[in-house]
Amino acid sequence: LALSLAACGGEGAGDTGGDASAPAGGDGETLKVGVAMPTQTSERWIADGEAVKEGLEEKGYEVDLQFANDDIPTQSQQIDQMITNGADALVIAAIDGTALSSQLDAAASADIPVIAYDRLIRDSENVDFYVTFDNENVGVQQATSLLVGLGILDQDGNETGEKGPFKIELFAGSLDDNNAHFFWKGAMDTLQPYLDSGVLEVPSGQTEIEQAAILRWQQETAQKRMEDLLTSSYGGGSEQLDGVLSPYDGLSRGIITALQNAGYGETIEDGLPVVTGQDAEIASVKLINDGVQFATIFKDTRKLAAQAVVSLEAFLEGGEPEANDTETYDNGVKVVPSYLLESDIVYKDTIQSLLVDSGYWTAEEVESGV
Ligand code: BGC
Repeated sequence: LALSLAACGGEGAGDTGGDASAPAGGDGETLKVGVAMPTQTSERWIADGEAVKEGLEEKGYEVDLQFANDDIPTQSQQIDQMITNGADALVIAAIDGTALSSQLDAAASADIPVIAYDRLIRDSENVDFYVTFDNENVGVQQATSLLVGLGILDQDGNETGEKGPFKIELFAGSLDDNNAHFFWKGAMDTLQPYLDSGVLEVPSGQTEIEQAAILRWQQETAQKRMEDLLTSSYGGGSEQLDGVLSPYDGLSRGIITALQNAGYGETIEDGLPVVTGQDAEIASVKLINDGVQFATIFKDTRKLAAQAVVSLEAFLEGGEPEANDTETYDNGVKVVPSYLLESDIVYKDTIQSLLVDSGYWTAEEVESGV
């Protein structure tokens, strides 16, 4: 498929700037890229979408960027529409990683390369490339930050000798998102030795991903599950709870609200359990700065967007994108060649070096939370 596009890829694909140098199809038209993002309720996807769009436009491509309100039929229709409108390539962050097979079949029949963005698209032969982070390591980092918050590890990852026992609860992401399983695996492999030795206990007994999962990563659902856990296993909030593994900042904020409402305290210093996160959303970065949330995982979406643009350009110029992993991401039908980026744990004392110095958030945004 890449070859057929190469024939019409045009010389301008590597140029930056306006229409004069825009990469053109065989009929002289500018090449079009459809970018399908899951939702605008989480700021990371807005940033991802905008950054991919800008990066592609700078290269002279025309971009159709769509968000689907976390609704599967909406996303399917948007992608159908992109294909009908003559997209030359697609970048897709799926809502349900298993729900797009017919769209991908249509894309393949039309020789349209498809890049899975951040989330793997499963059960289809027709996923050409995957750009993402090292998702299992994200889970390792989430569990590590929990262990650091409890004082079992220091920030360099060394054991302190602290034996607890600590009482924790576990949350996972949406089961239809392939990433949720990778985050969970990385986290549970890291926590398991401490669960086995009794340093950590899960009083609810809910240690299976199916029990811990939060459909569509909804904040309100996480808050509700935390409230239910407090009722069923913590005397409504009167009993010891030391930490909560949370795989996404939106969930973390729901969990924190439930804990605060139940009287555990407003900050970690006055008794609020240690809660982890992911995405370095500004509202959560402020909570970390204020000593309310303990940590988050920073995945630089600017770098992911740039990687998507580079990979897409390779396809549109008739080549193959460079992969740095060709083993990990089996989508059920094939192993999808991937490019994985690294992530970092953000603690209160690394907000400045990781997020402010890199220009991801300004000091004022950290202060205000917006
Ligand atoms: C992404 C995370 C994000 C989550 C919820 C996952 O697929 O990798 O960064 O927190 O979706 O939007």
